[in-house]
Amino acid sequence: DTNNNVVLHVADVNKSFGGLKALTDVDLSVKEGTVHAIIGPNGAGKSTLLNVCIGRIPPDTGHVIFDGTVLDEITPHEINQLGVSRVFQTPEIFADLSLLENVMIPAFARRDGAFKFNPIRALSAEGEIREKAESHLEEVGLYAKRHTDAASLSRGDKRRLEMAMSLIQSPRLLLLDEPTAGMSRHDTNTTIDLLKTLKDRGMTKVIIEHDMHVVFSLADRISVLAQGRIIAEGTPDEVRNSPKVKEAYLGE
Ligand code: ADP
Ligand code: MG
Repeated sequence: DTNNNVVLHVADVNKSFGGLKALTDVDLSVKEGTVHAIIGPNGAGKSTLLNVCIGRIPPDTGHVIFDGTVLDEITPHEINQLGVSRVFQTPEIFADLSLLENVMIPAFARRDGAFKFNPIRALSAEGEIREKAESHLEEVGLYAKRHTDAASLSRGDKRRLEMAMSLIQSPRLLLLDEPTAGMSRHDTNTTIDLLKTLKDRGMTKVIIEHDMHVVFSLADRISVLAQGRIIAEGTPDEVRNSPKVKEAYLGE
């Protein structure tokens, strides 16, 4: 059964904002250990789809199933506890905390179950979590800035900080919304390299991306979203050569 290793299944999702149909009959299957890209023009519904997957936006109809659990019936926090983590289009960081503190916080949050009502245990884990946070800052190239406030970072660095904040949770599924947006060409290439090493580690990833260069060098499969509908799905080569996809991007 080829469905066996589908880890994320978006089943027939519809979502409207007032009179605007943001997602129409969206179906998506992501296999364990793969990189699945979602591409499409601005306003296609990509960020909405990601927010549906992490429980931030409830679908009007349809379901999102992660490893057998129906996500639209549980809270965003519970979804995170299952091992689903995300990097947003607009980084969500703690501006007045240091980079190190920023990366430590999600590690405590992920272990909330263990620490609930037990601050002593949380305190005793601090050294271990600090070391982990430092290694993830190193991984995203921000170790040297670990003691500076997050507010002082460039936009690209904020995205890398957010990536470290996700990685410390050792997610099974990582969803990234335009991870290279606002980055220089150099930082974009560094980020692509980082995402490639994560792929080698077998982490399942869903990447929303506008930059074709990023997508074609990373993705195992690509779904193309246009005006809220999946108009094509396949390997990078299949999608690259699809007339429908070329047409969807013509207006760009
Ligand atoms: P993309 O990420 O592909 O650029 P979005 O998912 O952000 O697209 O948006 C899809 C459509 O839904 C756009 O027309 C956008 O204006 C609209 N939209 C997104 N979020 C909201 C919201 N919270 N309220 C109203 N309209 C929204
Ligand atoms: Mg978006």
